[in-house]
Amino acid sequence: MATFDGANLRNYGLPDSEVEGVPVAKQATAGPCPNCGCEELMEVKVTVVRQALLRSGTGTGTYLGCPACPFASPMMVRGNGNGRPPVER
Ligand SMILES: [Zn+2]
Repeated sequence: MATFDGANLRNYGLPDSEVEGVPVAKQATAGPCPNCGCEELMEVKVTVVRQALLRSGTGTGTYLGCPACPFASPMMVRGNGNGRPPVER
């Protein structure tokens, strides 16, 4: 994972993450923004698809975003379990 460099604020996190659909945002309990100091960071959830690092290939990504500047935290992605190969017994 690349580090926060301030120049490419959304260009880090899982490599080659492709998102689908419309992100959903709600007020986060975290804050303030480490880039501009805004107190109202948002928790953003978005569907991640075709991610080779997830066993299921798809999942839900969650990250913090600032409504006042381009800051976004690295995205944490959790697989949704769909597409998982059957368990061998
Ligand atoms: Zn900010």
